[in-house]
Amino acid sequence: MRALVYKGPGQKAVEDRPMPKIAAPTDAVVKIVKTTICGTDLHILKGDVPTVTLGRILGHEGVGVIQELGGAVATFHPGDRVIVSCISSCGKCEYCRKGMYSHCTTGGWILGNTIDGTQAEYVRIPYADTSLYRVPAGADEDSLVMLSDILPTGFECGVLNGKVQPGSTIAIVGAGPVGLAALLTAQFYSPAASIMIDLDDNRLEVSTRLGATATINSKDGKAAEKVMGITGGRGVDTAIEAVGVPASFLLCQDIVAPGGVIANIGVHGTKADLHLERLWDRNIAITTRLVDTVSTPMLLKTVQSRKVDPKRLITHRFKRDMILDAYETFGHAAKNNALKVIIED
Ligand SMILES: [Zn+2]
Ligand SMILES: [Zn+2]
Repeated sequence: MRALVYKGPGQKAVEDRPMPKIAAPTDAVVKIVKTTICGTDLHILKGDVPTVTLGRILGHEGVGVIQELGGAVATFHPGDRVIVSCISSCGKCEYCRKGMYSHCTTGGWILGNTIDGTQAEYVRIPYADTSLYRVPAGADEDSLVMLSDILPTGFECGVLNGKVQPGSTIAIVGAGPVGLAALLTAQFYSPAASIMIDLDDNRLEVSTRLGATATINSKDGKAAEKVMGITGGRGVDTAIEAVGVPASFLLCQDIVAPGGVIANIGVHGTKADLHLERLWDRNIAITTRLVDTVSTPMLLKTVQSRKVDPKRLITHRFKRDMILDAYETFGHAAKNNALKVIIED
């Protein structure tokens, strides 16, 4: 089968690889129908994620069809259409029993990281019963690809951790796919104001279409002042960090209101300053999280009922044999006005 393989920092290639096989009775082999590229894949290609070794097939998102099952898989049958979760969970360890699947002692984020991922014709999924979700009949499978990672990530790490409330004021720093997923799912709670902050005017325009009440281009370094202007000098109840660089975490500290929450989503590769000398008396909380995907079944229902439409995040489509072009487009997202790209047969 053909697969997109990590060849070391800055290097990737499409290669012929053997078909994955069932390795444990709880495994499934899934034929990938649609997949996508995540910002995390770009981090890996920069060499930022040392757990990814040479020769790894990348990708942790996708929708597919069950090809083969281990003898212990109880809830699926060959031919079932499934959403692949970016998090694999055994369902039995101490962390899984707490609903903290991201820290499963034998799973977590392993797909396209420590085991081969979804940017291939087939993928082996461990713990199939608890790591795959059935595609509802008639569902739009493009939308469901957004349920593998970005929708639960924006919702759990941003909206839930950020304690978004009816009537509250939120700011999301970073209008990439995950920041926009947070914006979409924050609307479940009817915040009074949703401010999107980014360097890219196109992404800010998209934010307005997706429900932002104000947008700020932070290029001029005056984003904090502008947020204070919009909020009457108070700041925001929830500041969601969806970039993963020190400057965006600092901005969150500048705009969080007393009693507010800074909810970090971004993948940070370097240390970031925390200004406790300004924040110690502000009654704030700072949260971090790797997505647990505990909200996936709920989010699936909201997608099915059209309460949320993640398809609006898809900007480009590619055939599987054009995956290098898909990387080129997604890797220069600002130039190409790219958000999520769909890669399919
Ligand atoms: Zn991802
Ligand atoms: Zn577990």
